[in-house]
Amino acid sequence: MASSSAAAAGGDGGSDSKHSSPPPPPSPVFGERELKYMDLALAQAQLALENDEVPVGCIFVWRRPNNSAGNGSYGSGGGAEWTDQIIASAYNQTNISRNGSKHCELVAIDSITAAAANGSLSPPFDESNFRDCELFVTVEPCIMCAAALRIIGIGKVYFGAANDKFGGCGSVYSLHTPYTAASAADASAAAVSPPIESCLGYECVPGLRATAAIDILKQFYLRGNDKAPEAKRKRKPSAYNPNAPLPLKPQRQPNDQLI
Ligand SMILES: [Zn+2]
Repeated sequence: MASSSAAAAGGDGGSDSKHSSPPPPPSPVFGERELKYMDLALAQAQLALENDEVPVGCIFVWRRPNNSAGNGSYGSGGGAEWTDQIIASAYNQTNISRNGSKHCELVAIDSITAAAANGSLSPPFDESNFRDCELFVTVEPCIMCAAALRIIGIGKVYFGAANDKFGGCGSVYSLHTPYTAASAADASAAAVSPPIESCLGYECVPGLRATAAIDILKQFYLRGNDKAPEAKRKRKPSAYNPNAPLPLKPQRQPNDQLI
């Protein structure tokens, strides 16, 4: 959408053909805050690597305005002071649990809801506060996790590497987009994400520390996942080719494990 709008603006520019091509869209510029939190998510991914789990990690940050009235809303900006509170950090637990749904995002959500239920989060947290939370995750959430994030009403997601096989935030589906009449007309999306009119969607920011996230994944896949089905233990260090496609991009198989 942005590029087509830019093209139209360039075309409207008139007679100077030398400048008729629109400039490329700017790359996202990340601040120290975003980099710091993604580094913590990468540390979780590193822990996963050391524990023979698919190395994807995440951090949930609860962001609250600091003003004394306690008002203000998430993302309103306007120079408000904000308090960030890390309320969960996690990495994938699929191998240790033998449960393919234990992706880091769902592990973290489970820990937050458990902490909220037993009152161990201060200030008290309830499910409506997910709208004030940001998720930093090293790889684009898969379709399952993207749908879960939509249902809980997450405020914003930063991710590193794209997940071309299973990504639910733009690569395969765009489950982060708000439900609208237009999206309802997309039968394939509706099949994955039944229309829930109260779903607002959430903002996604890709590409934060993507190279670092991919490097950790490469380390894992090069040494092989010994919990994977035999037919999939095919990557050996001796076969390493730095120019080969990334491990995230093989042909999808019916029984592939989601990451
Ligand atoms: Zn997932």
